[in-house]
Amino acid sequence: MAQNCDWLLTNVRLATMVDNGVPYGEIESGAVALHDGLIVYAGPEAGMQEITADQQRDCHGQWATPGLVDCHTHLVYGGDRAREFEMRLQGRSYEDISRSGGGIASTVKHTREASEELLFEQASRRAKCLLEEGVTTLEIKSGYGLNLEQELKMLRVARRLGEELPVTVRTTFLGAHALPPEFAATDGDPRDAYIQLVCEQMIPAVADAGLADAVDVFCEGIGFSPAQCERVFKAAQAVGLPVKGHVEQLSDLKGARLAASYGALSVDHIEYLAEDDIPVIAKAGSVAVLLPGAFYFLNEQQKPPIAALREHNVPMAVATDLNHGTSPIASLLLAMNQAAVLFGLTPEEALRGTTRNGALALGLQNKGLLATGFDADIALWDIAHPSELTYAVNMNRPSKVWQGGQCVYSS
Ligand SMILES: [Zn+2]
Repeated sequence: MAQNCDWLLTNVRLATMVDNGVPYGEIESGAVALHDGLIVYAGPEAGMQEITADQQRDCHGQWATPGLVDCHTHLVYGGDRAREFEMRLQGRSYEDISRSGGGIASTVKHTREASEELLFEQASRRAKCLLEEGVTTLEIKSGYGLNLEQELKMLRVARRLGEELPVTVRTTFLGAHALPPEFAATDGDPRDAYIQLVCEQMIPAVADAGLADAVDVFCEGIGFSPAQCERVFKAAQAVGLPVKGHVEQLSDLKGARLAASYGALSVDHIEYLAEDDIPVIAKAGSVAVLLPGAFYFLNEQQKPPIAALREHNVPMAVATDLNHGTSPIASLLLAMNQAAVLFGLTPEEALRGTTRNGALALGLQNKGLLATGFDADIALWDIAHPSELTYAVNMNRPSKVWQGGQCVYSS
């Protein structure tokens, strides 16, 4: 008896992204069957057993890829820093702008002042820009609230985006992002005092509320020291949450090595990563998340050690880092292009970075490949070859998108 499924796509070229030695894991004359939110078949059309479907579609040779994964964003925030950008380009110094209330302090102020509803509306608009490009999984960090109540607010907004939009949202608690302004006058080391609050109160409360899937830190001279980040990792471990780190973005503090020693899902930015730390990351199985949007926007020079990451088979992901201070870029396809042009990734590496490796950076073993048993997140593209997705800027949109087995977008 024929198996029945919800959707059957035929006459489709598959970029399965399965690492089987064939570029893009390509299957030329393919078919995909979806049922109950899962891929129940992805392979050659000729090899498929008889399947009936509630909805069937001839794809006329279009390409299917896994739904895209943006594994690093800060897209919930209040305020606007376009004027600050303008002042900077008019020649005002960063210190000057900071003194007049700009920089991250302005984001914290406006995020705290914004209602949950307003934050949701604004973040929703940004998320939709990503979804239009075929993103079906999105990570969102907190980190502009910097006290328990405000961090919980940000995480609730992030969770709600996943409930109301056709996208899987993974939330990350980033309390250790910056020193809250009210701590600046604390006696002793204000950063130590704030980290104590993060570890003893915020992480247990966030975990209790079930609002975070991971815990992140900003390990940097202008963020927190490795010793402070280690306290955060220990507190996360104590409540059973996996960790990640903003590490080696502006200097080499050995944050990646530290994060890897706590089994980090990912080490992110890593422009200043030393080559002899790479074997440690490879051994821990952490994903190297490349954020070329921030590199571009800040006009940085130091590039991540791509050749050495390749040599040690460290999986590389690519993400937007969408935030309004350093990467106001709501386009994952542009981030793929930037990763290729600025960092030298191949188009295949860029696509693997926003599919399988993006999923792994979020601990989502069941996403990012077109293969039997995987989540039915799929984007269909009217392109001649998948390299076009990385090559062209603002020329490609999916013709159809399935998320969790549902067709959520159709041009
Ligand atoms: Zn970031």
